[in-house]
Amino acid sequence: MPNVRTRFAPSPTGFLHLGNARAALFSWAYARHHGGKFVLRIEDTDLERSTEEAVQVILDSMAWLGLDYDEGPIRQTARLARYREVIDAMLADGRAYRCYASREEIDALREAQRAAGQKPRYDGRWRPERAAGKTPPAGVTPVIRFRNPDDGQVAWDDLVKGPIAISNTELDDLVIARADLVPTYNFAVVIDDVDMAITHVVRGDDHVNNTPRQINIYRALGAPVPQFAHLPTILGPDGEKLSKRHGAVSVMQYPADGYLPEALFNYLARLGWSHGDAEKFPREKFIEWFDLAQVSRSAAQFDAAKLTWLNHEYMKEADDARLAELARPLIVAGGGMVAEGPDLTRVVALLKDRAPTVAALAEAAMLFYRELHAPPELAAQHLTSASKPVLAAFHTALSALPTWNRAEIAAAIKATLSTAGIKMPALAVPVRVAVTGVAQTPSLDAVLELFGRDKVLARLARHLD
Ligand code: GLU
Repeated sequence: MPNVRTRFAPSPTGFLHLGNARAALFSWAYARHHGGKFVLRIEDTDLERSTEEAVQVILDSMAWLGLDYDEGPIRQTARLARYREVIDAMLADGRAYRCYASREEIDALREAQRAAGQKPRYDGRWRPERAAGKTPPAGVTPVIRFRNPDDGQVAWDDLVKGPIAISNTELDDLVIARADLVPTYNFAVVIDDVDMAITHVVRGDDHVNNTPRQINIYRALGAPVPQFAHLPTILGPDGEKLSKRHGAVSVMQYPADGYLPEALFNYLARLGWSHGDAEKFPREKFIEWFDLAQVSRSAAQFDAAKLTWLNHEYMKEADDARLAELARPLIVAGGGMVAEGPDLTRVVALLKDRAPTVAALAEAAMLFYRELHAPPELAAQHLTSASKPVLAAFHTALSALPTWNRAEIAAAIKATLSTAGIKMPALAVPVRVAVTGVAQTPSLDAVLELFGRDKVLARLARHLD
């Protein structure tokens, strides 16, 4: 499809949650699949609620997920003069008009409509034909309303939801600019999508009700109407609206919690979209396969266990040095002395298969970097008079090793067991407690290799007479 142009248009009024990120991902993937362009637009016209921190969070989240954009970030606040220009042109020929109804008046109108069992809607009392001869009330700064068509219907073939049609009698004259002339969302979004030549609007289905209003504005402008794809909601595992506890958190919470971007990317890709039974796939495959036609019409359900499973799969194949750099700050924050222990990359290589997240990896790696403090009850249980000769024999065997590596250590373990006539736990558990301070660790020979000869011998020696 030539000239596909999509956009992601978040409002910087909070954090970027998974629903926003999924909309960004699908919009991006559609552009990439078709060799088109992807635009990032910051919808910051809500001056009270927009913040610079929230803009930064959007940029950080996009960068972390690897969602690169060809144009932007374009801020709506930089385009206020453009919106004014269009509003002026629409005012000049009656496509829009000034409405002087006060808030109290509008509230009273709504109340009366409700009491009469009608749907509350603006009654067009300041439409040009009805305002003729009326003196605008003193002290009221007007809002600008769009003159919505009275009859006919608005219909579009939603790329996800299928055909949708709304009668114009359901719609009223939308406020397109507030009294301070700052445009409202429904107006600015259309001017931007027209000016940026957006061909496909991919967004959450919380906007479905806005679309007919927006299409009427396109028509009034004589602009081509883009295709719309409204993505179904993401629900929590309980089938309820996504809550904080279940993923309605900031995208940037995921790196903090030890998730890899490729895992969240892959997880979001599968949230309401599928390609056969593929569960784990790289971004290139997603771009190759993605089409809006396979987006599910029904709500997607957030599944934290599946995200963790995917993350674990990506952890296993991630580069050791990369994981080490991700884990290092967490280990340091936990009080681990990384500089005094074994090379973190080698520790990662040993532990990553069993760590579903970077956070879990960092926690496991603490074994090598914390101060040795065997809990007294553990020491009392395992460092006994019976274990002393075993530790002594093992100390002697290790001291004699020509080189310090896993195979040599394994051989020393075997030799000590057979000389003492004991089974593995009778050696391994006291050695673990003496050297690491815990009774359970990954494979003993690998752990001892990483601790290094000096530390192992010194720690064993504390328990010899
Ligand atoms: N600023 C709107 C939002 O964040 C954008 C909606 C749209 O994509 O049109 O919900």
